[in-house]
Amino acid sequence: MHPELRALVELQAIDDRIAALKRELGAIPGRIEAENRLLTSFEDSVAEAQKAVEGVKKRQRDTEREIQSTEQRLRETRGKQALVKTNDEFRALNSEIAQLESRVGSLEDAALEIMESLPAAEKRLAETKGGLDRAKGQVQGAVGRHKAEGERLEKSLQSLLVERQSAASAVSRPWQERYDKFYKIRGGLAVCPIIDQTCQGCRMSETLQRFFEIRDSGDAIFTCSSCGRIIFYKERDAVGAASHLEEAG
Ligand SMILES: [Zn+2]
Repeated sequence: MHPELRALVELQAIDDRIAALKRELGAIPGRIEAENRLLTSFEDSVAEAQKAVEGVKKRQRDTEREIQSTEQRLRETRGKQALVKTNDEFRALNSEIAQLESRVGSLEDAALEIMESLPAAEKRLAETKGGLDRAKGQVQGAVGRHKAEGERLEKSLQSLLVERQSAASAVSRPWQERYDKFYKIRGGLAVCPIIDQTCQGCRMSETLQRFFEIRDSGDAIFTCSSCGRIIFYKERDAVGAASHLEEAG
């Protein structure tokens, strides 16, 4: 093969690896972000459990306060008992006292229920905190692995760029420019084989005469008459076992 053509083929192989590396590198920030998002959901659970505990404690305080104020009213009302003059007043006062006593009773029941619900809420909070701590450890590990992978890819990319430079130095400027342009506009395939007269890039056929020229000329580089890709001759046998099987079948 023409040495410059060989360098072009090599250049394209390197560019393919560079493109793949860049895709992998580009995916890493998203992976790290996904890990951090995972952490947010654990943090939300902790916040929710925290809020539940605070809610129980607030209800506890409110109920205690209401018990105290109701007991205060009860004491005041009982204090009035000695001052009543009529039976009606006495009955009214007794009824008010009974109501207040009943109110204190139900408030105390409520306070007990609230108190009993606190351990479960606190347990839930401790569990979510534990979950968050474990998730933090896992996320940290995963983020660390993603970052290490990114560094490894970055290193490979740097060495490929050096390799590319040396391959490109064996290609003259006009061919390099054509290669760069076609690599961009022809979907990452600027150099391709021609097999049995057919360009493997665009599947169009060259005339037999031009095909022989391409096949037999050792000192020239050819381009496809249809798509403009740089082409090189490849024997059908070299395509691989699959086409052999097809032929046999
Ligand atoms: Zn073509």
